[in-house]
Amino acid sequence: MGQLTERGHELTPRPDQADVLVVNTCSFIDPAKQESIDTILEMAEYKRVGRAKRLIVAGCLVERYRGDIKKDMPEVDALIGTNEIDRIVEVCEGIDSPAPNPDLYLYHDLTPRVLATPRHFAYMKIAEGCDHPCTFCVIPQYRGKFRSRRFESVVSEATRLFSQGVREINLIGQDTTCYGEDFGLKDGLAQLLARLAEIETPQPKWVRFLYAYPNKVTQKLLDTIAEHAALVKYIDMPLQHASAPVLKRMKRGASGDIFLRLIERIRQTIPGVAIRTSFIAGFPGETDVDFETLCQFVDAAQLDRLGVFSYSDEDTSGSFALDGKVDARTIANRKRKLMSIQRKISRAKNKKMVGREVSVLVEGTSPDTDLLWTGRMSTQAPEIDGNILINDFEGADPAPGQMRQLRITEAHDYDLIGTLLASTESEVRIPISRMLPPSTLIKIAPSQLPAR
Ligand code: SF4
Repeated sequence: MGQLTERGHELTPRPDQADVLVVNTCSFIDPAKQESIDTILEMAEYKRVGRAKRLIVAGCLVERYRGDIKKDMPEVDALIGTNEIDRIVEVCEGIDSPAPNPDLYLYHDLTPRVLATPRHFAYMKIAEGCDHPCTFCVIPQYRGKFRSRRFESVVSEATRLFSQGVREINLIGQDTTCYGEDFGLKDGLAQLLARLAEIETPQPKWVRFLYAYPNKVTQKLLDTIAEHAALVKYIDMPLQHASAPVLKRMKRGASGDIFLRLIERIRQTIPGVAIRTSFIAGFPGETDVDFETLCQFVDAAQLDRLGVFSYSDEDTSGSFALDGKVDARTIANRKRKLMSIQRKISRAKNKKMVGREVSVLVEGTSPDTDLLWTGRMSTQAPEIDGNILINDFEGADPAPGQMRQLRITEAHDYDLIGTLLASTESEVRIPISRMLPPSTLIKIAPSQLPAR
């Protein structure tokens, strides 16, 4: 998006107004593939009956099914794989380009960028690719070997984002906890977080990293999070399972007991920390006993947030060849049971929050009704952990991007409701930028389109 706007093109979220339609895709699991294909077909209709002249498919689906898309979707004009992002301008303009650069793509601080999130928070990729061998996962095949961005490149981009009014930066990558290993840094993520926490900003800021690999969570990393106020007390650590035999077949190792000890150490080191995890239900060979082990683990761990994915049997994954496939109905039942255990944990934790005052980042009006606002505690990651609903406020009117105190007044299973208190920080009003949907649409000057 940054490269296109720099070239003078205009972005629009409305497919009926675009000259070029770009669908960015995912092919990690079946539902993501289906959503990607449905979106391509939906956009193809706009090209057939609307003003759009070109339809471009980008992302992981291209890496995985390049030949099939070319053969079965003649309405698609061009494809852009995950390592060809630098060709986006020429592809949108319909210019025949030379063979793609064989190097693995990694963006840096000088790469032009358009924030697709509200202006008060941003994601920042610090590494790309993954070298772990998890048997259910096809990501390393399409994203390539692990490589980190240069330390100063990350610091420089973060400094710029904060200076533009971003209040919260979320560091992402397939494997953030290995950050820096490829250029010999020990505890690279801890060093990076400490450096980001020290960036001077006029108002308080939050820095969070997502997707910790459990055996890469070092004591140094935990101490660093505990030490710096700007580092949010939040760990998102996908565990995938808690039964040792299943974890072994996943080629991840460890066990529920090891994870419980780690969780205990995290809580001891970082008081008030919120821990999120995700599990896969129905991995091949998961027996009733394995599943019971997982249920007991969820009950014992008392995690703050939990997501459950149904196992998706991807034909290029290592686990595709495993026997003992679990039927879809059993998977759905197991997923439901895990979520019902977690619902009780979440309800009890939420009830304990009533009456407390917490710091929140005000998000904006609720997407469901103008009568409510929403905000997030630092222990709620954007877009995945939900919001606190704000039904009353004291003092100044709320505005997106403010950090304010909030009193929690009501608790539901997953949601909290509260009253914003009079603001203690200088009012900084940051308008919510227009949200761009996953399929980003490019408006392009007609003169730049090829004759067809
Ligand atoms: S660590 Fe994550 S991205 Fe890497 S192989 Fe395992 S599940 Fe996939």
